[in-house]
Amino acid sequence: MNPYTIFSDIVAGLAPTSRVYEDEDVLAFMDIRPVTPGHVLVIPKTPARSLAELDPALGGKLFQVGQRVASALRESEVGCDGVNFFLADGVTAGQEVFHVHLHVIPRTPGDGFGLRARPTSPARADLDYLAGSISGALGRIANR
Ligand code: 5GP
Repeated sequence: MNPYTIFSDIVAGLAPTSRVYEDEDVLAFMDIRPVTPGHVLVIPKTPARSLAELDPALGGKLFQVGQRVASALRESEVGCDGVNFFLADGVTAGQEVFHVHLHVIPRTPGDGFGLRARPTSPARADLDYLAGSISGALGRIANR
């Protein structure tokens, strides 16, 4: 499948971008439609459409750069009190650009950002059942 998205043009310097950080593997830049002021996206320079396609070492680097950006947001004039990481993997999860990206979202009281969710209270047996299923899948993935 064609890995091209607008983020390929951003990496190549072909689209206007407000860059925050860059190294040989990773680029961080301002989201063009920030949900709060200072909203940054961290992406691998090599496109991967999904987490499953992303080199795990590169995934680790995305998180490391995200951590540093989070610290910088707190020290910068953005002046946030907190930070959320958000990553949408798949259409159902809200992914719109199919080039993996970590949202680093600065938070201040009353900024209006939030995730809507309805937490449930499953029985321990249900938690154990799903834990076993996920654990089994992890074992199969590790052996591939
Ligand atoms: P997703 O919903 O896929 O997790 O988020 C995609 C993000 O990319 C959105 O927050 C959107 O504002 C941002 N975005 C989409 N196109 C561009 C662009 O051309 N430039 C920048 N800087 N951000 C973009």
